Amino acid sequence: MATVQQVQQTEREVLNPYQIVQTQIENAAAILGLERDIVEILKKPKRVLCVTFPVKMDDGSIRVFEGYRSQHNDAIGPTKGGIRFHPDVTMDEVKALSMWMTFKCGVVSLPYGGGKGGVICDPRTLSQGEIERISRGFMEAIADIVGPDKDIPAPDVYTNPQIMSWMMDTFSRMKRSFNPGVITGKPLIVGGSKGRNEATARGCVYTIEEALKDAGRQMRGATVAIQGFGNAGRIAANLLAAQGCKIVAVSDSKGALYNPQGLDLDIVKQLKDSSTIMNYDQCYHLQRPEEILELDVDILIPAALENVITLKNVDKVKARIVAEAANGPTTPQADKVLFQKGILVIPDILANAGGVTVSYFEWVQNLMNFYWSEEEVNQKLRDVMVQSYREVRSLAHEYRTDFRTAAYMISLKRIAEAMKARGWI
Ligand code: GLU
Repeated sequence: MATVQQVQQTEREVLNPYQIVQTQIENAAAILGLERDIVEILKKPKRVLCVTFPVKMDDGSIRVFEGYRSQHNDAIGPTKGGIRFHPDVTMDEVKALSMWMTFKCGVVSLPYGGGKGGVICDPRTLSQGEIERISRGFMEAIADIVGPDKDIPAPDVYTNPQIMSWMMDTFSRMKRSFNPGVITGKPLIVGGSKGRNEATARGCVYTIEEALKDAGRQMRGATVAIQGFGNAGRIAANLLAAQGCKIVAVSDSKGALYNPQGLDLDIVKQLKDSSTIMNYDQCYHLQRPEEILELDVDILIPAALENVITLKNVDKVKARIVAEAANGPTTPQADKVLFQKGILVIPDILANAGGVTVSYFEWVQNLMNFYWSEEEVNQKLRDVMVQSYREVRSLAHEYRTDFRTAAYMISLKRIAEAMKARGWI
């Protein structure tokens, strides 16, 4: 069995997410014995649009923003995936995120391919008016390639229902007709779905329930650390706490809180709403926020950005289960070490697929103009997540491989079948 040091010596760690997803595809394709032509097609997005657009800022100046929309593969259906607003957005990152979307939709059997968008900007330093003008400017710039039967965006890091609503409005005005199906994650009043806001976290919790059951463990008393306190992280904290899990640590971009007795989530929430969670006194403030990844807990939920579990810290990870609410939090080399250590990783393309699953429900409701109850949405989400988890688990056991590879195998098989059926190869 290779140690961390041996892996480190033999492989230099790659942190470019585009190269990482290509490695993940190659790993699963090799086990499946997938045709080379299919692998080559899937290793690159079909189309990437790079746009710049001017935005009038509150002080009257004009700033030119840059953004991307990547459409990876549409063999199974229109492309689907969020739009991220973040200062560190790059074209390679957006390409990778669009590819992860293809495989995510494949694992949970949605009739979609993968897409993703990103705008380089920092919403934490922008006014609401500036964010609105960026949202409308970006939608106008990509309007030719999106649409309810082409490519359907949604929220991602630092974007939200209000932003989706502005984008839907801009698209609808351009087309001179109401087009709610062009984007998901909208507010309820303009065609959003009940349960969409909580869906990523809820789907993740369903997979954690299954994993704990497999380990013969109960939810009650299970200890949890959550890295990232945005839409996914904070809602997962509440849902898990409601089932008796003990949330012992949470972090945001400014710092991390830890209390082995469990944190009071109401206080954490109030502080987060006003500024940052770091004002909370009744607990330890971790020296380095990354220490949250090294705590001795039952469940670790990375719920922020890519590349947080790498060869640098993987030997210190002590959690029994890692549930990836974020996209791409673990590098392929770190994955190998976690697998060797017997730590169960519920991979992003499965663990966070609840968001896009309820986005699909939202789009279906928009196309039908007929809306479902929250119970109906949550029940359908549970069915999808539990069935997909079990499919991944049984393939992982059959091939004695990790859940990520198994999830890619399931997805690759479906996409390859569609590509062949359509006569692409
Ligand atoms: N941004 C989310 C994701 O990464 C949701 C995408 C969607 O709903 O289309 O899965």
